[in-house]
Amino acid sequence: MVASILVGMLCAHLLCFSVMFLLISKRLHGNKMGMDFFALGNFLLGLAYVLQLAEGGPAWSVMSVVNHTLTLASPIAYWLGAMRFFGHAVPLWRPLMAFAVAYGALQVLVQWGLGPVARYAMLAGMSALLFLVMTVTVIYGVRTFAKDLYREMFFFALLIGGICVLNALKFLKIVDGGLEALHMDSRFQLVFYIYMSSLATVLPPSIVWLVLRRLTDDLRNMAARDPMTQLLNRRGLSDALELHFNARNAAPACLLLMDVDHFKRINDTHGHQVGDTVLCRVADVLRTTVRRGDLTGRIGGEEFVAICLDVDSAGIMRLAERLRAGIEDQAIEVPGCDHLLRMTVTVGVSHHFASTHALEAAMQEADAALYRGKAAGRNRIEVSPSPRLHPTQGAGTSMMQQLETAG
Ligand code: GH3
Ligand code: MG
Ligand code: MG
Repeated sequence: MVASILVGMLCAHLLCFSVMFLLISKRLHGNKMGMDFFALGNFLLGLAYVLQLAEGGPAWSVMSVVNHTLTLASPIAYWLGAMRFFGHAVPLWRPLMAFAVAYGALQVLVQWGLGPVARYAMLAGMSALLFLVMTVTVIYGVRTFAKDLYREMFFFALLIGGICVLNALKFLKIVDGGLEALHMDSRFQLVFYIYMSSLATVLPPSIVWLVLRRLTDDLRNMAARDPMTQLLNRRGLSDALELHFNARNAAPACLLLMDVDHFKRINDTHGHQVGDTVLCRVADVLRTTVRRGDLTGRIGGEEFVAICLDVDSAGIMRLAERLRAGIEDQAIEVPGCDHLLRMTVTVGVSHHFASTHALEAAMQEADAALYRGKAAGRNRIEVSPSPRLHPTQGAGTSMMQQLETAG
């Protein structure tokens, strides 16, 4: 009786959360983070338990064959949903239908060839195997595709591992004691259903939490990045810099401001689309030239920023020159144009600064240096005349002079 009530509650939970997953999936685009697959997984498992209640106990009937098939199809749907959540475009119906047909046929064969005990043992054994593979994959995910969710992944591995162990024990009990082991009110079945009911209460909200985390992470990322180049925007730069300076013993930073020369001319001659291609190319050079850990951003139409963390004056000048030369070396094919499009940038360098509050001042210094670079002929590097960096030099110092001083 107690087991039947537990199974009834389990069904109610599974079906309610199935509706909830479906509603969430309706609000999401693209692969819907696998929510539609999770909805189906919950629905199939809920349906399997309804059939089990209707059946009462072990029996050989179409309802029982369907029940066993649904019981195993649901973890497969969860599995495919998890793959979707992690960005793999896997199909749903074809693998599920193929599995249903194959497992239905296998049940008939096993029932005829080996008898009912073997068929029920096969269900428990297959469940144990499936959940073992899921547990191993989740643990593998902690080190690879789900590094950002490692706490959640460990939690899931623990819960899913529990289902695996219980099914393995059920398998052994059936092999040992036959169908008696499946009596609804046996102690083992009671423990099994209590565990499954607890999971049905804990797992779905955990999945909703995962979706919420991913969505808010995506939102934060969108708010911090320029959509065209995927470089940080002003806000992203400021937030990332704050993280850097909050660390103990954080080294001072230095800012490079880079502006594409005569960009308006590129737009006017070749059109905005080619202008955008140029901006993306400049962003690529910036991204691949800075050191790992440095911050890169786009803060205006054709203005880019690199914030170098923990680097001396010589290093900054070398980076600025690598950027300038790297962009000068680029050549872009323009449709309908018989020559390659080339571009240059002027770079302004701030002095070192050691707090996020000083970012705006560093930006202004670099901007003033940049302005001087433009006036002096473009395609060059100008350094802010900071007493801390170059005590003896004034504004408008040439790049080679700076390199010599810094080196
Ligand atoms: P200078 O060498 O002095 O920097 O001259 P410039 O022509 O590069 O400078 P200006 O500021 O006059 O031109 C910037 C142009 O950038 C004007 C604007 O239409 C264009 N722009 C701003 N944002 C975008 C964008 O996202 N895509 C494209 N294609 N053009 C943009
Ligand atoms: Mg410009
Ligand atoms: Mg500009």
